[in-house]
This record gives sequence, structure tokens and C-alpha cells, in this order.
Amino acid sequence: MQALRAIHLEEIIEAVREYQPDAEVDKILGAYAFASAAHKGQVRLSGEPYMSHPMQVAFILTKMKMDPAAIAAALMHDTLEDTEADPAQIRSIFGGEVLLLVEGLTKLSRLTFASKEESQAENVRKMILAMSNDLRVVLIKLADRLHNMRTLDFLPPQKQKFISQETMDIYAPLANRLGLHWIKVELENIAFKYLMPFEYKRIEGLMKERQEELDKFITSLCAQTRDLMLMEKIMGQVSWRFKHFYGIYRKMTEQNLDFDQIYDLIGVRIITNSLLDCYKVLGLVHTKWKPIPGKFKDYIALPKENMYQSIHTTVLTHTGRRVEFQIRSSQMHRNSEDGVAAHFRYKEGKRPPTKDDENFIWVKRLLDLGLSVDNSEEFIDTLKMDLFPNEVYVFTPKQEVKALPAGATPLDFAYGIHTQLGNHFLGALVNGKPVPPDYQLRNGDVVEVLTSNEQHPVRDWLKIAVTSHGRAKIKGYLRNAQKVESLRLGNEIVENELRRHGLDLKAFWTKETMEAAAVALGFKNAEVMLDRIGISSLSAYTVLHKLLPAEKWREVENRRKNYIASVTENLGVRVGDIHDMLIRFAGCCNPVPGDPILGYISAGHGLVIHAKSCPSLKSLEADPERLLEARWETAAKKQLRPVRILIKSLNRPGILARVSAAIAGCEANIASATVTATSAIEGDLDLTVEIEDLNHLQRILETVRGLDGIRSVERIMDARRAEKR
Ligand code: MN
Repeated sequence: MQALRAIHLEEIIEAVREYQPDAEVDKILGAYAFASAAHKGQVRLSGEPYMSHPMQVAFILTKMKMDPAAIAAALMHDTLEDTEADPAQIRSIFGGEVLLLVEGLTKLSRLTFASKEESQAENVRKMILAMSNDLRVVLIKLADRLHNMRTLDFLPPQKQKFISQETMDIYAPLANRLGLHWIKVELENIAFKYLMPFEYKRIEGLMKERQEELDKFITSLCAQTRDLMLMEKIMGQVSWRFKHFYGIYRKMTEQNLDFDQIYDLIGVRIITNSLLDCYKVLGLVHTKWKPIPGKFKDYIALPKENMYQSIHTTVLTHTGRRVEFQIRSSQMHRNSEDGVAAHFRYKEGKRPPTKDDENFIWVKRLLDLGLSVDNSEEFIDTLKMDLFPNEVYVFTPKQEVKALPAGATPLDFAYGIHTQLGNHFLGALVNGKPVPPDYQLRNGDVVEVLTSNEQHPVRDWLKIAVTSHGRAKIKGYLRNAQKVESLRLGNEIVENELRRHGLDLKAFWTKETMEAAAVALGFKNAEVMLDRIGISSLSAYTVLHKLLPAEKWREVENRRKNYIASVTENLGVRVGDIHDMLIRFAGCCNPVPGDPILGYISAGHGLVIHAKSCPSLKSLEADPERLLEARWETAAKKQLRPVRILIKSLNRPGILARVSAAIAGCEANIASATVTATSAIEGDLDLTVEIEDLNHLQRILETVRGLDGIRSVERIMDARRAEKR
């Protein structure tokens, strides 16, 4: 562990002034005083005063050229969580912007992530970004993590491992994605050291053994390269780097290589002033050293998918050591730095860049600009963006992070976990509290689903679920449930019909006869046929026709022709000598005693009585096999029946009062009334009146027609309200 030099406030101020000469350093001074007072008396496990930590974090942030608000927030980042400091105080002294940053960090510090799965890690990274609202929060968090990693030695071994794993899974990739390559490398190296101490030491030892030789070698190699360029009068920069320990380790394990087989242990990078110079330098390098076949890549002529441009070539140097050269122009270099995020992500995930990556390339550009270039509020505002406006990240009770589309509800969450969890969804607790069914999940919510085995999807759930996944599951369930129901119903209807005609089920309704009838009717199988009967698009009689031998069918048909439905006083219906049928009056025409009527046999719903003149009977294209003659029983008792009447009036004001008085005078009751203005004075009056029979109705209609200002009065048998069954 390298010893960390203590940071003084003056150094932070100086560093800020360097990239932002007119910076509001008062904010930083104030934050220092505030945090020092809050953390007074607290010490870190290292024995240092607690304040040393926020100071180091703030100093790291000056390397990212952060603005005074972010530096101030960094100094106070642990005050809300670990001290008595009051958010209201921070707001009143430093303003809402700084408070938002500190609160953002406090929120993140309360999260712990349990799973190590790669898909989980990706969700966690996105959740951190989504929860931050302001990219400065993530950057401060990364600086915080970096300093914590640098001082990890003071923690117990168990914690060291846990934090290192989290760093490896979450924070190093996050730094990488934001284009903060140096932070990524340092985080990985420290985490590697704690997670795999043996492997770390081994690579460290191997590097140390060769350090002197490598230093001498690379210095000489770079000098030779510069000389070559100088002789040809090519301007450019030559630099070099060692691969970081963790990178070496990965290469060794992933490609099963020995340490000495890693040819890119040292990389030389040459940045020229022009594209043409790149090829000139390449010529020089290849003339001086032998290129290794198969290790030459011209990404200038053929840029990578993410627009990365550079020449890569590995050569055999004078000492026999292989070295990779990267040659590019300064323009290409800038572009490649911009594209770093997409580039690394492509390598990590082994999939092409996605829309997210475009976001990150843009973020990287912002960070590269640095706050020193343009300190306008506009720039700060661009950091406060929503990186994932279309997604929301929530926790399961086991602390796994789930990504859902924005607007998702707990029901969507349940279906996202498991179909059965969704199908038995009863409700949910969010952050321990019950929420309404249409609650929209927010980033960081902990969602616990309550279930019941009695609970099943209902149509209304489609109003609550917003994800296509959840909706598809609900629709699938409903479709299936409906199918089960229609099959059951179809079977029952045929059975009832057979029984009614005294036919033996065992003889006429078997698997074989069923299938034969289905095929004869052109259906794929009996199931499809039963389903059709169940949903009323096929009549049981049509099936009976195919099912029964010819002479049996004739018997059935003859009997049926003689049936007449008789509507009796108890609103039962009589069909021939069968008494137990259900009866309903059609809602469309509302026949009243006296109206000529027809019975319509509806599958599973008994007999529906329509007026013979009902327009909806025609629109139903009623299957003639289902129509039965019907008549009112002469003994029918006076039963009140609702009837719709439409009155067109010339004199709207007061009309309802006059009409109601007239109808009351006829000893009838108005069940409902709607008045619609058709012009300034004219209007329609739509009434439902309860009457005894046709005579009663006629009397009412005549009375209303006789009133002043009435243009027309008619009974409505409205096909628009026709019932389908
Ligand atoms: Mn901290």
C-alpha cells in the first residue's frame, strides 16, 4: 500500500483555480468548515481524522476538473449519513444544487448490491446512473470509491473482499464507461490485489524482476523511434505504457499465455500530425523492425464499427521482444478518446454498441471538455440529464436489481420475476408500505409482491400492467380461461339438448361421435366445435343434425317445430312441455305484454325474448334454427316492464316537468331520463318508462303527444343496444 500524502485545503483551492481562475472558492472554504465541524472527533480506521477522507475525494475531483459545487459536495458527502448535519442547513448555506448532490450521494451510500451475476451488475450500474440524476454524483461516488480502495488495508479481510468484488463488478466498469480510464485501471488493480492476492503478487514479482531491463529497453526503443521520425522530418509524439496488472492477468488466463508470451506488455503509441504521416511512420517502423505476420491491423483504411481509427502493428525488436505500436493522427486520437466508452463496452459485452453507448460517448465528450472550458450554467445543466428516461430500476426483497420500462407498476414487476407471481398477484409493498395498484415504480424502490392462490388475472389488470411482457401473460391467461369455459359450456349445451330430447348421452355423445360431427361440420377437431358452441357461434342443433342418425334427427326436428315458447307470469318460459328454461327479455327492444314476440335460443343463456319487430334480430343474422315461436300467456300477471321512449320537443325549457307530470297521471313510473339540447330551444328527451302492457304504453304515448310543444313521440327498439346473446 502506497503511503498517502495528506491533502491540505490550499492544494484543493489551488488546483481548482488552475483550471477555473474565477472559481467561487468561498463555497469550497465553507463546505470545508461545515464538514470539519460535523465530523469533529471522528477518526477513520487508519487513525487519521475523518476529514482526511473527504479531502482526498475532493482532491481526486480536481483531477477531473470539477466545479466548486461538486468539490463542496465532495467535502460534505458523508455528513448526512454519518453525522448530525441537517439538510436544511446545507441548503440555506450552500443552496439547493449542492444539497441535491450531497443527497444523491447519501442515497447511493445506502444501497448494497448482493448479486454478482453479470446481467445483475449491468442493471446495478444503470441503476446508479439512473438514481444519480446528475452525473457529478456518479463522479464524486467514483472518487469516493477510489479513495476507499486506496485505504482498504485498514478494513477486516471479509470487508476487503466484499468491497473489492463490488468495485470489480460495478465501479470499475462504470468508470470505464464514463471514459475515466485512469480510475478504472487503478480500481481494478487494487481490487485484483485483494481478490487474488497470490496472482497479484506473482505478476508484481514478474514485473519487478524485469523492471530495470524493461525500463532500459523501452527508453531506448522510444529514442530510436523518435530518431527515425526526426531523420524523415516527421513531427509527432512517442509515448509508452505498461499494461496494468489486472489486464496482464486477464490476458494470461483468458488466452492461456505465459507472462513472457504477452506481446503487448509494453505498448508504444505514436501520434502524428496527419494521416499521411501515419503511413510514413509505419514504413519506418517496419523497415527498422520485422512485423509479426497476422498482427497488423489498418483501422485507418478500415475503421472499426465504432469509428475507431489507428494502425496497430506488432514487431520483433532488436532484443527479440515483441512490442505493439499504435500509430494515429492527433485527430484520430481525439476521436478514439471520445469513442472510448463504446469501444470498451463492445469488448466487454461482445455485442455491438447500442443506443446507451451513444449516450456515453456524449458523456465522455462532456467530461473531456472539462468544466474549465465552459463554466456556464448551461453546461452544468447538461450533466443533470436522465440517462435512461425509458427505464426504471428497482430492487427485489433479495436486493437484486430489476430493470423495467418507465411507468411500470408492481404487477409488471411481479410478471417480470415469474409468471406465477404475476398470476397470483394480490398487491405489493413498496419500501415496506402498501401502494395503490397503479403505483408507478421509481428508481431504487424495494418491491415486495403479495400473492394469494385464490387470485387470478382479470380483464381489469390490463389497465394496470404496462409492460408488453406482463400484458401478454395476462391476455394469455384470460384467453385460456375463456377457452376452458367455452369448452365446458359447449359440452353442457349439447348434453342438455340431447337430454331434453330424451336421447342417451352414452350412445350419441362419445369421443368418436363428437369427432365425427366436428369433421362433418368442417372443424379441425371436437375441441374447436365445442368452443364455437360455447361462444354462441354455432348452434347445438346444427351439431345434433350431424350427430344423430337420420330417423332420430327427424324426430327431434318434428318435436321442435311444435314448440312454442309461452311467457308466463313468473317470467319463466314454457317451451312445449319443458319448463326449466332460463328466460330474459332482450335489452334492445324490451318487449311488453301485447307485443308480438319471438324466442331466441342463446347458447348457455336460455331463451331471450325479442319483439318480432326488433331490428337487432335482423342484425344478429339470427340462425333460424335458434328461433322459436313465443307468445304471452293470457294469464300473465301485470308486471312492470321498462320501455324506452324518445320525445322530440319544440320547447325545451320545462319540458321534463310537464312530461313527467303527464306520465305520472297515467300511473306509470319514469326510471330514467336524459335531456339533450338539439338547438337553442329544441331538445330530445330520452325516457325509460315502466309500464304494464302494450295498452298502458299506448295510453302514455297518446297523452304525451297531446302535450304542448311536443313534435314527436316514439318507442325505441334500438339495435345499437342489441345484446349479442
Ligand atoms: Mn465517503
